[in-house]
Amino acid sequence: MKLFDTQAGELREFKPITSGEVGIYVCGPTVQSEPHIGHLRSALVYDLLVRWLTEQGMAVTLVRNVTDIDDKVLEKAKEQKRPWWEVAYQNEQLFAKDYERLGLALPKLEPRATGHIPQMIELIQQLIQKSHAYQAEGSADVYFDTNSWPSYGELTNQDLSDVESEELHPGKRAQTDFALWKASKPGEPESASWQSPFGKGRPGWHIECSAMSTHYLGANFDIHGGGLDLRFPHHENELAQSKAAGDKFANYWIHNGLVNVGGQKMSKSIGNTVSSKDLFALASPPAVRYYLSSAHYRSVLDYQPSVLTEAETALERLHTFLKRAERELKQTQFAAIDDSVALPDEFTQEMNNDLNIPAALAVIHDTVTAANKDLDEQQWREAAQKRAQVNRMLSVLGLAPSQWPSAVSEEHVALDQLVRRLIEQRETARQEKNFELADSIRRQLEDSGIELSDGPTGTHWSVS
Ligand SMILES: [Zn+2]
Repeated sequence: MKLFDTQAGELREFKPITSGEVGIYVCGPTVQSEPHIGHLRSALVYDLLVRWLTEQGMAVTLVRNVTDIDDKVLEKAKEQKRPWWEVAYQNEQLFAKDYERLGLALPKLEPRATGHIPQMIELIQQLIQKSHAYQAEGSADVYFDTNSWPSYGELTNQDLSDVESEELHPGKRAQTDFALWKASKPGEPESASWQSPFGKGRPGWHIECSAMSTHYLGANFDIHGGGLDLRFPHHENELAQSKAAGDKFANYWIHNGLVNVGGQKMSKSIGNTVSSKDLFALASPPAVRYYLSSAHYRSVLDYQPSVLTEAETALERLHTFLKRAERELKQTQFAAIDDSVALPDEFTQEMNNDLNIPAALAVIHDTVTAANKDLDEQQWREAAQKRAQVNRMLSVLGLAPSQWPSAVSEEHVALDQLVRRLIEQRETARQEKNFELADSIRRQLEDSGIELSDGPTGTHWSVS
């Protein structure tokens, strides 16, 4: 399998450190508010990667952290006049609920930052010992010394003289230096600080991920992932401090693209944030999953409400085919061809090509088009084979009907059967130049609220 490694800036053949095993660390959410579409998309990308690697026979350990202590969590708690841990935990539960709704498998481990303060302190001590970190005079603040680490900037390959850094604190030696430990400030709750050899305080965000990833996956692990917005400074800083501490850290860096809303970057200041609640109100969970999978994971996913309707229609087409095939094949000797068939080569190739899911979805749709034709022509063996393949492909993507038992109703399947018959009659009428009959069939369907669209892959219907 080839994966696009952000650090190398190119596609690289994926080779795990230990054959047959893969360790992945993904930066999880900072739980200061409810999840939005960007969080769901990011989590889904790694869910799909894990499913595919597992399908290839690998034992995958996915670690996705929860940042439950952070400036943003403390700000939110202050605003809402609630304890910070309550804000963090309630939001964490909202994330868990929406991940489950989206059909995401649980990661093997989901460590919380507050549960790993000793590991963070230990890592900071190592960095101080190796002269890659320093404590600010008269304060518990500890900073990473970027000037002591010549390869700082290697992940994003950028000219750091242009980069805006964190606010220059009096204790800091250089603009690019970043906080490893933050002294507790007046006004901050007592409960948000921990004792340490540097004084009372709390960890910086970057050190949290370095400590948790290596604690669970070892000093050298396979894949580190996260949203594109985390590349700098978060991941750059993680890489620098972990390597400076003597760890080899991640072999591959994967970043998923962000979400635009109506062509605009999603941001709190514009006020165009789409919450996961909004998405699930507009479409069924499998349709949301289909939509979020439909753009390549590295590209920008554009959102507007109509895309959910399109996803719903596309997924319904696939599920409707499966129901139809099941029913029609029941009468034949091929009903028993089950889901243990091999995946089509084209599908495997697309998935191995940097997880090209839009192309893999196109393979599924093409297989369905061909299989519907097989059913029409009563080519039962071929239809049964393709039906099993479609089921297998969908289940790799977490979109198979068995994974979403209530997604397609019996009524829909019956209606589809009826409308497809009428579409065939209309087609025959048109071929026989009996346009009066063809028009009357279309009108009948329209009167019942069914719209036809003629395209290169035939006529499709939808409820208008
Ligand atoms: Zn992180």
